[in-house]
Amino acid sequence: MIDIKLEHIVKKYTSDVIAVDDLSLNFEPGSFVCLLGPSGCGKTTTLRMISGLERANDGIITVGGEIFDAPKQNIFVRPEHRKLGLVFQSYALWPHMTVQENVDFGLKLKKISKEERCRIVDESLDLLRMGAYRKRYPAELSGGQQQRVALARMLAVQPGILLLDEPLSNLDAALRLEMRSELKSLHERLGSTIVFVTHDQLEAMSLATHVAVMNEGKLEQYADPMTIYLKPATEFVATFVGSPPMNMVGFSDSEGQRWKEPFKKAVAAFRQMDGNDKRISKVGFRAEAVTLQRSDDTLLLKQNQTCIKGRVKAVLPTGPEQIVSIVVDDDQFYVVTPPSHFFENGQAVDMVIDLTMIHMFDQN
Ligand code: ADP
Ligand code: MG
Repeated sequence: MIDIKLEHIVKKYTSDVIAVDDLSLNFEPGSFVCLLGPSGCGKTTTLRMISGLERANDGIITVGGEIFDAPKQNIFVRPEHRKLGLVFQSYALWPHMTVQENVDFGLKLKKISKEERCRIVDESLDLLRMGAYRKRYPAELSGGQQQRVALARMLAVQPGILLLDEPLSNLDAALRLEMRSELKSLHERLGSTIVFVTHDQLEAMSLATHVAVMNEGKLEQYADPMTIYLKPATEFVATFVGSPPMNMVGFSDSEGQRWKEPFKKAVAAFRQMDGNDKRISKVGFRAEAVTLQRSDDTLLLKQNQTCIKGRVKAVLPTGPEQIVSIVVDDDQFYVVTPPSHFFENGQAVDMVIDLTMIHMFDQN
């Protein structure tokens, strides 16, 4: 099992494009780390630096105790000497080789017997449900099938570190879910250190042992998935992770002196609950902190509850539940209710908020 250490990594493509900005991260041996963030936040660049396809401008990258990249010390280990498994979003399969030959290719470079290679190729293709396509060429496969072959090819060589850049992005929903569980059980079996890039927060939350949330080349938070969800360190993390996103209450003025009128009472209750006087800029609460009721029903607040009044803007059924969007002046909030609870557009509602489930965010 191999660890990866990134220390103060900087990558600039040009003087004004800083793709990765002072990133420090430790990937423990055998961990499954998801780099999570919106498009353009520097995830792929980070992965390419670990693999050696891109050189850092500053910082130190250490893998398994060996320095791979340290510009200040003039150290750079070429990608082919790093012995890492790579699957990129654009899965470069060899076009002139069949599926089977593609998977076998990496094994041929290792000194193992032909029978052993055949067994591994069969096993890898079966695992990815591609056994029936072994004689086909990449051009004769769909994008999703090519992605599966790329994964099979990588898994066949069982590298100590797997670097995966949105490897499930071309699969349909059902297969994506199946592949997630395959990857997760595979990780538990192999014990490889996995770095998995995704912009899909649900994917990150369901797969990772550790999630690194990135924004504009910087690290926002690095923790296990439940901590990311329950204790988001920043406003960015709070709104990026979770569906629907965390509801936010802000100031009415740019100086940050007054809370917007409809929230004044609620914020006072929030602050009292939080019990400290730190300078906060936003108060957040997730959909599950809210019980929604019609304003014409009797409002009975318990001690740990407060209420914000609004109007229903839309009801969005998802099957097992429904997302109700609610407007309060210019602000929009999301609440989740059972599908049996009837709300209609324009209806006046009370959001009853559990004060033990609120989040306070500092001014940046
Ligand atoms: P992500 O994978 O999170 O979507 P990337 O690492 O691909 O983000 O990109 C980070 C930033 O660097 C973006 O602003 C992107 O436009 C820029 N970038 C990526 N690759 C290059 C490149 N080869 N040349 C110049 N800019 C690049
Ligand atoms: Mg990318």
